[in-house]
Amino acid sequence: MDLLLRNVRPLGAGAVDVAVRDGRIAAIGPGLRCEAEVIEGEGALLLPGLVESHTHLDKTHWGLPWYVNEVGPRLEDRIANERRWRAGSGHDAGAQSLRLAREFLAQGTTRLRTHVDVDTEAGLKHLHGVLATREAMRGPMEIQVVAFPQSGLLARPGTFELLEESLRLGADVLGGLDPQAIDGDAAASLDLLFALALRHGKPLDIHLHEAGEEGARTLDAILDRTQALGMQGKVAISHCFCLGDVVAARRAALLVRMARLQVAVISTGTASRPVPPLKECVAAGVAVAAGNDGIRDAWTPYGRPDMLERAMLVGLRNNLRRDDEIALAFDAVTHAGARVCGFADYGLKAGCRADLVLVQAANVAEAVVARPARQLVIAAGQVVR
Ligand SMILES: [Zn+2]
Repeated sequence: MDLLLRNVRPLGAGAVDVAVRDGRIAAIGPGLRCEAEVIEGEGALLLPGLVESHTHLDKTHWGLPWYVNEVGPRLEDRIANERRWRAGSGHDAGAQSLRLAREFLAQGTTRLRTHVDVDTEAGLKHLHGVLATREAMRGPMEIQVVAFPQSGLLARPGTFELLEESLRLGADVLGGLDPQAIDGDAAASLDLLFALALRHGKPLDIHLHEAGEEGARTLDAILDRTQALGMQGKVAISHCFCLGDVVAARRAALLVRMARLQVAVISTGTASRPVPPLKECVAAGVAVAAGNDGIRDAWTPYGRPDMLERAMLVGLRNNLRRDDEIALAFDAVTHAGARVCGFADYGLKAGCRADLVLVQAANVAEAVVARPARQLVIAAGQVVR
């Protein structure tokens, strides 16, 4: 054995020891005996490594001088502002993504999915930077890269080819953006996107900000293609705000279809828009993962690379009060996140990757609400904090 973590309480259960060998949990249970370096947990709460399912590492100003936000109110304003800023600022997506990834790791996040801007102005510059970060963090942290058409797919000829090149270069997931509201033709946009994902055998993760019935129609179009093309279990919808503001019967019908086709929701619990109701989604059998979205970038001044804080914000947004409800928000930044993104060997069982986080809290609900300092972070069997 390499390491024996003694007297810790997994997710608030009774005290156990955790033996770690070759980066994995070799055994977990009370009273383990083995030759290894011993770390005393002293009854602390043991969490699995946290999972960030939706962020944008390449855009962040984390650690840089404050960005003065004077951006207009519309989605198009934000997209155009960022494009101008990207072109003029000399922003180093590689260095900044690495800086933020390291901070995520220090706060106990060991698996992370990041969308990376791919458009006809940025080209593949951000992608190369974030692929370098993925390599630099390989070992302690598993990073998935989503090739993301931030300026739309149809409006800018050449974007499709750049996305295809991104997948060839090693992007893990194909991204999409508002096929109707931004591209103006949901059917044409989705046909291209699904064909590209299928050709490269990659999952899809589509940003869907479209509201109300417009969003619901696009969601239906996504579900139609998921079913027709056999992409069950390979499609996630980020934001999916329309689930928060269509009438209840329409939402219920969409959730039934999503559950059947294993189409997941990735939510940020944003305060600024209606959000998919977490309890209703989970009750319908739709997996919900959570993420920060951008952290301190040209879009938003808010955010911290702390998934316990994100779970708290998701809990607040969904009015979760009972401990068993708050546990759903915690699940979205742990097990559900890993399932939705497809991170393998995840959890607190023998054989799983030894991604272990210790905090001072009675249980999961207190950890989410109080967001205690990370007392110990072990990533793939190595102490990183
Ligand atoms: Zn996003």
